Amino acid sequence: MNAQSLQTTLSNLNIGGLRYFDSIGSTNDEALAWAAKGARDFSIVVADEQTSGRGRLSRKWFTPAQSALAVSLILRPDSRLRPHLSRVVGLAALSIAQACAELNLAPRIKWPNDILSNGKKLAGILVETTWSGAEVEALVIGMGINIHRESVPPAEFLQFPATSIEDELGNKPPAREEILRGVLSALVEWRGRIGSDAMIETWENALAFRGEQVQIQAGNQSAVSGELVGLESDGSLRLRDARGEFIPIRFGDVSLRPAA
Ligand code: ADP
Repeated sequence: MNAQSLQTTLSNLNIGGLRYFDSIGSTNDEALAWAAKGARDFSIVVADEQTSGRGRLSRKWFTPAQSALAVSLILRPDSRLRPHLSRVVGLAALSIAQACAELNLAPRIKWPNDILSNGKKLAGILVETTWSGAEVEALVIGMGINIHRESVPPAEFLQFPATSIEDELGNKPPAREEILRGVLSALVEWRGRIGSDAMIETWENALAFRGEQVQIQAGNQSAVSGELVGLESDGSLRLRDARGEFIPIRFGDVSLRPAA
């Protein structure tokens, strides 16, 4: 993978700009800085290796060289996207899931920001924003996708089991550029329908643990448990507690786990 192979493979996609790095700290950091300096809509930062890839809070995202996709996509909200910024994490999750389904995997979305295959984490998403006063100026959608076996972190690094596309397919995956093209094509398609009921329904139908008991942990607060029912129209999670009452869970930095 290099800048040229990416340009060639993504040539039909109307990429705003491309910055490729053999190695970088974090693609999201680079994209946030580029967005603040005026990067065009749908610009991407791609790295072969991240040396300080980030998850949510101060968690680390593992991206060893030559094995994973680490991409940060910059979106500048237009009038169609702006009313639905809370759906953007779902937009990314659906797009990765769709690209994986096209490879004949059966991905599920662990709300809000992870993609699972056979109950193991295959990809993660980190959405960050730059602001102009009180308005969101740009969104940076960081996506880390485990492609080859070597991208799967050592077990001691993990709170949740992980896998890769190669592990799940049982044979050699397509080139990383091709997989990225699949993700970005799906994203272009879903972005055009971000406000639709179909978007929420498709996202909801792809959720992991639907109909099952889950636990939600937000920071140091006590965990909330309930049945994972589906999504609210803003992309919040809908739980039903033991008394049958519906509880909406907003994004924030919550972690979802199946109930013990
Ligand atoms: P959560 O698992 O609560 O959703 P994050 O979405 O913030 O947490 O993801 C960060 C966590 O994901 C890390 O703490 C680590 O356990 C795990 N992780 C890091 N890199 C990878 C990777 N390449 N594949 C799978 N899991 C990873």
